[in-house]
Amino acid sequence: MMPIPYGRQSITDEDVQAVVQTLKSDYLTQGPKIKEFEEAFAAYIGSKYAVAVSNGTAALHLNCIALGVKPGVKVITTPITFAASANCVRYCGGEVVFADIDPETYLLDIANVRELLEKSPKGTYSGIIPVDFAGRAVDLEAFRKLADEYGLWIIEDACHAPGGFFVDSGKNQQSCGNGNYAELAIFSFHPVKHIAAGEGGMITTNSKDLYEKLLILRTHGIVKEDLNYQNTGSFAVGMNPGISSEEPTDYPAWYMEMQELGYNYRLSDIQAALGLSQLGRAEEGIERRREIATRYQQAFSDRDFVLSQSGIVEGHAYHLYILEVKDRLGLYNWLREKSIYTQIHYIPTHLMPYYRELGWKQGDMPFAEEYYRHCISLPMYPTLSPDEQGFVIDSVLAYYSEENQY
Ligand SMILES: *Cc1c(COP(=O)(O)O)cnc(C)c1O
Repeated sequence: MMPIPYGRQSITDEDVQAVVQTLKSDYLTQGPKIKEFEEAFAAYIGSKYAVAVSNGTAALHLNCIALGVKPGVKVITTPITFAASANCVRYCGGEVVFADIDPETYLLDIANVRELLEKSPKGTYSGIIPVDFAGRAVDLEAFRKLADEYGLWIIEDACHAPGGFFVDSGKNQQSCGNGNYAELAIFSFHPVKHIAAGEGGMITTNSKDLYEKLLILRTHGIVKEDLNYQNTGSFAVGMNPGISSEEPTDYPAWYMEMQELGYNYRLSDIQAALGLSQLGRAEEGIERRREIATRYQQAFSDRDFVLSQSGIVEGHAYHLYILEVKDRLGLYNWLREKSIYTQIHYIPTHLMPYYRELGWKQGDMPFAEEYYRHCISLPMYPTLSPDEQGFVIDSVLAYYSEENQY
């Protein structure tokens, strides 16, 4: 058997052709593939707008800027996520406040968030960043209600869940990142995620204002539309004496303005071409992930070494399939010896030295910490073959067999 990772990309000849075509075209960046990818992605997710950016972390950073995070602003998130979900608040000088997870779903527990909000005067917190962790959709309808009570915004970190959904109180499927409940949502196109572009990210929203703001922030804060220029007078036409440009139509074609401090967080057309090609197979990929999840669920239900597992949940996008097990370290090492490279998602963010330095400590998030003691992510990706999955399952069962005396 070849080494089996916990996740990996699948690249088809079609993907390769799409990239080659872009390499031979006029635009390697700032070309037509970006808009094409954005429109197709928004259509897939069901949001009005999408903004392609260089990676998921850049997407989070721009979201925090667009929503006004700055020193003194407090934002709530989960400790069981990739560190970027919290770090984006710190990039803007804001304060991260962790709230514990629900041990059943492994998601940010709305009851804990409510408790935090109730303990402080209204206005203490500005926003919430829930994460569709492992591909399981957060109930954003419930979070929206709570956020509205306290005047908070929501950024949905949907990196694990393109194509996932939750079912709302009206029995409608609400797809992750569709913008119906959160101001903004973000996705990543890192190769372990559902859609690979090498590196890449996407922001989705239904707000035209936020959309326009993000487009500008993505490219240095530069504005290129006549109607929005701030400089007036002969200056704007190159300081030619005697030429007045009080009228917007007088701006020459080269003219542009940097109106605020933005970044270069663009995605290239090469990456967009790959992402777009991959997007065409996204549903197929999720179906395969659900099959894999179903087989794991069957193999590991009613086993005495299993404390909990991802299970079968409607709308779950299965970026990860997680078991909570007894003697996790032993199992992890046993599988490594067989070239099965599982992963641990995640070491709780609040226990990272950087966040400990800011005052967080062991014991602050008891459910997240207990989850971390037992969790292990099994191989989960569309090209995992039935034989490979069988080998993974047999290897896990062998570790806990009576002969092995774990
Ligand atoms: C991958 C990931 C990110 C960051 O995405 P990058 O593209 O790697 O910057 C953020 N949040 C979560 C939950 C992720 O899994």
